[in-house]
Amino acid sequence: MLQVDLRELSSGPVDTHAELAADDPLFEPLEVALAAPVRLLGRLHAAGEGRFYWRGSLRTRVAGECRRCLAPVAVAVAADIDALFTQDPDALEDPDSYPLARDATQIDLRPALREELLLAVPQWVVCREDCRGLCPRCGKDLNAGPCGCPPAADPRWQPLAALKGKPRN
Ligand SMILES: [Zn+2]
Ligand SMILES: [Zn+2]
Repeated sequence: MLQVDLRELSSGPVDTHAELAADDPLFEPLEVALAAPVRLLGRLHAAGEGRFYWRGSLRTRVAGECRRCLAPVAVAVAADIDALFTQDPDALEDPDSYPLARDATQIDLRPALREELLLAVPQWVVCREDCRGLCPRCGKDLNAGPCGCPPAADPRWQPLAALKGKPRN
């Protein structure tokens, strides 16, 4: 129930519960690897003067990658939806507002759902808070133990070293 007829809304709120498969074409442009269906609970109601509020929640899981060690991480994604569909162009400055044509006969929730999902997906994840990541030199996973590379030179000493190497007049 993701395309709601406005006539239906004029007689009362409409429930917008849905479950979309992880490979639904709607999510294709997101470049996010969904690991579970997107479950949506919500309710759309008219608020007068071409305004419609959509409130609900979405949840799914994303197949992410640890930013430090690149291990696969399943990330639970959950977000509340609090959106406004409006025919008033002045109300569109709010990022949770979506435009509605003056002659619209229905509200299509799908682009808004895609947008809300994108906002809910974390920009980056770690497999655990104290993940040691990969050695920048040899690439070994440091969670499995030290790799034997010499410690990196302290960058604070580099200007001094450069000074020492300078030929004197
Ligand atoms: Zn990690
Ligand atoms: Zn190393």
